Amino acid sequence: MNKKIVYPFFLILVFFLFYFFVSAPKKSDNLVVFCDVGQGDGILIKKGTEEILVDAGRDNGQMMACLARYLDFSDKTIEKVIASHYDSDHIGGFKSIFAAYDVKAAYGLGPKAGKDTQTYANWLNDLNHEGISEQVLASGMNLNFSDGYLEVLYPFYNTNYAGKNLSDVLKLHYLDKTFLLTGDLELADWEIIVDSKINLESDILKIAHHGSKNGTSQKVLDAVKPREAVISVGKNSYGHPAESVLKMLENSLILVHRIDQKGDVVFK
Ligand SMILES: [Zn+2]
Repeated sequence: MNKKIVYPFFLILVFFLFYFFVSAPKKSDNLVVFCDVGQGDGILIKKGTEEILVDAGRDNGQMMACLARYLDFSDKTIEKVIASHYDSDHIGGFKSIFAAYDVKAAYGLGPKAGKDTQTYANWLNDLNHEGISEQVLASGMNLNFSDGYLEVLYPFYNTNYAGKNLSDVLKLHYLDKTFLLTGDLELADWEIIVDSKINLESDILKIAHHGSKNGTSQKVLDAVKPREAVISVGKNSYGHPAESVLKMLENSLILVHRIDQKGDVVFK
């Protein structure tokens, strides 16, 4: 190649190296990010260099890409990972995260809900390689971090695990807001939770089960009273999000963020 052409390329290369290793801004923001993982759920809670993940999407690299957008290049530790439940569109993406990061602790519904699915076996196998074991969540527990905490609302201690889409329900208290994280919870479980009269009120509701009509009812919205809602949904053949759910949210004057339309939804 001609010297006259090579020289500008060399300058550009030096500039980029300088930018990435010396002057790149530190990504030390305090954030809650509903990551664009396509059809699935993946949530990043970040306080400086402390991270908690609630689900990680499917095994398609999109959660890894999301972490690359918000974590410092040098930050290779994830403090906590939580499985809302064991479907592959929620925990499939943990595989590459365990490979790339040092994960300190893991939480989930436990073996009674995991049953004998391959996805659950893979999760346990990955935890085993990581040298950690799964801690089982039940209501009454709090998972604390530097500047906030996750309150476990569901499942209740000694829940019957018959429900096919049981998910843990977590209320995140952080950034002077409350976020209700709901996995793929269905109406049968919502009935039990709402009828128990526990305080569900939250500023932001992660709509359950990608906006399926079996994941949200007016009774749920009346109990949670959210100002904003996030629908974690991508291209799918299930009809998510349901038109009836979108109408219900609109009628309740709730500001809706759809990940399939907006990409990552970030709260600061
Ligand atoms: Zn799902």
